[in-house]
Amino acid sequence: MDAATITSWMHGIDVAMREEKDHLVQLDAAIGDGDHGTNMTRGFEAVVQALQADTGSSPGKLLILAGRTLVGTVGGASGPLWGSALRSGGRVLGDQPTFDGTELTEVLAAALASIKDLGTASVGDKTMVDALEPAVETLRARLSGGALVADALDGAVEAAEVGMRATIPLQARKGRASYLGERSIGHQDPGATSTALIIRALQKAVIGNT
Ligand code: ADP
Ligand code: MG
Repeated sequence: MDAATITSWMHGIDVAMREEKDHLVQLDAAIGDGDHGTNMTRGFEAVVQALQADTGSSPGKLLILAGRTLVGTVGGASGPLWGSALRSGGRVLGDQPTFDGTELTEVLAAALASIKDLGTASVGDKTMVDALEPAVETLRARLSGGALVADALDGAVEAAEVGMRATIPLQARKGRASYLGERSIGHQDPGATSTALIIRALQKAVIGNT
């Protein structure tokens, strides 16, 4: 995997966010302020534009640029969270021109660590962490069990989607939805939903480039 994998991942996220924009808005309208779909769409549109203007950069540099762009364009919680996540992930790769499945896992693990650091959420708090952490764990477990990257990513997508659906019965303990207390129960978390889309886009990008 190389810079083209990252470019196609970011492009795939942009497409997925636009397709799911209304759904994400509805989910956020139920337990937040209804801007998650527009936040993510605006952010990843800007990321794609920034990456188009940047040719020849390493995968790590592209991730850092993507993260910086998200921080600069998204006002909601998801902008700084995913922004710092992608920057941390990018720093793992440094200037290396290619990366393997284990390194990709390290990228996602650094992204998760950065989200948890900044947002202080754990699994079960009804946030994006509920989708991202099981995805990272599954990816790591499958790869160390000898799976091919594409198959390990299949498992990661499934784990993210299970985690996403598992947010429905939870009461939110972080972010805007936590202000609702028990009224946040019974709704799927918007950030966990967009995170599952981000992992699915990664799987598609990797399949397309290997
Ligand atoms: P805002 O809540 O500022 O309007 P968004 O609507 O774009 O921002 O994003 C909301 C999502 O951000 C939530 O659904 C949740 O998944 C995630 N989120 C909010 N606060 C945190 C946090 N402290 N840690 C991790 N994720 C969080
Ligand atoms: Mg919101």
